[in-house]
Amino acid sequence: MPEPKHTPLPWVMHWQYDHTGYPSYYINGLAGPQKRDDYLHKANLTFVVRACNSHYKLLAAAKVALLKMEGENIMGGCAACGSEIKKHHRGCIVVQLRAAIAKATNGKEADV
Ligand SMILES: [Zn+2]
Repeated sequence: MPEPKHTPLPWVMHWQYDHTGYPSYYINGLAGPQKRDDYLHKANLTFVVRACNSHYKLLAAAKVALLKMEGENIMGGCAACGSEIKKHHRGCIVVQLRAAIAKATNGKEADV
């Protein structure tokens, strides 16, 4: 069974108080008839719940992978891209892991 397709990323979060005074949260990006598309709302909610429930495990795994990749080197160079240590190629997995960890932690753990 194909997985429902959520609203394309990136999402932007907004919050405000509703007419009863309660805070209301929503994701910007839905327009026109999409706002009343129950299938799309369910797909978005499913994606949010799955992402949140896996966030800490994925973050921990990324940190372990980064530490392992940084711990490995070949003749003084990065084992992943071959560049000098701390001068990785643009697409190096070490750079990608650092960027993903920084994004997931709002920049608080860019240097693990
Ligand atoms: Zn590298």
